[in-house]
Amino acid sequence: MGGVRRLGYHISISGSMDLAFDRAREIGCTCMQIFPSNPRGWAVKELGKGEKEGFRRKGKAYNISPVFVHMPYLPNLASPKEDVYRKSVEAMKTALGRCNELGAEYLTVHLGSHLGTGVEAGRERVAAAINEVERSLGGVTILLENEAGQRNSVGSKLDELVDIYNSVSHKRVGFCLDTCHAFAAGYDIADRDVAKEVAETLGLERIRCIHLNDAKHELGSGLDRHADIGFGRIGRKGFESFFSVPGLKEKPMILETPLVETPKDARGELAAVRKMLGD
Ligand SMILES: [Zn+2]
Ligand SMILES: [Zn+2]
Repeated sequence: MGGVRRLGYHISISGSMDLAFDRAREIGCTCMQIFPSNPRGWAVKELGKGEKEGFRRKGKAYNISPVFVHMPYLPNLASPKEDVYRKSVEAMKTALGRCNELGAEYLTVHLGSHLGTGVEAGRERVAAAINEVERSLGGVTILLENEAGQRNSVGSKLDELVDIYNSVSHKRVGFCLDTCHAFAAGYDIADRDVAKEVAETLGLERIRCIHLNDAKHELGSGLDRHADIGFGRIGRKGFESFFSVPGLKEKPMILETPLVETPKDARGELAAVRKMLGD
């Protein structure tokens, strides 16, 4: 097939957004994920002078793409509370604006929590939100990420993601498959048949990104706790089996691992992943 393997990390935007590219290049990333702003706040500060140009220039010069922008943590698109929901839709529009300013291709979204009103109500909220932002999309595609199965969360069952996809009236939507979340939600992706079924359920061509994370807790734990690749419950063998499903290892991959086990540095972990991938 040729082409560059697209493999990277979630990278800090601290200081200036374009610095993320320098950090990504330093550790050998060929794609990356960033937050559009402080992930624990609602406010989005204006880009500094030259920040936008610097970002676009470095992305090309370093050949790091695609850039995945991950929504901050506070918005909740499934919220039954009208004020939170409205604010969350506005936050998604703002994040889309930021993606377009920067030339980032994808906005990855968590579907949020229905706070007890039920998955169906939550799902309708999320689909309505994604329909509503259609005019703010510009060149961006929204990726729905599967969840670990925390209480009241929407999107831990793959069918829920597919239902939302089918309720969206535009085509600028796809999936981000998080391996830790899938495992925590009860999909044993270390088993090749299950991994294959997961890919088929979502639709291989609609999976635009894989969040490559090992899982700290057991299958079906419902806990969103990432482990370093090969050091969690999925394990090296589990990932090798996962990658043996046709099409999966060609997807851009983003690691969101804690880097607490050996290999202790990002470069070492990327090298280990490349080895698993047979590069
Ligand atoms: Zn993730
Ligand atoms: Zn997670």
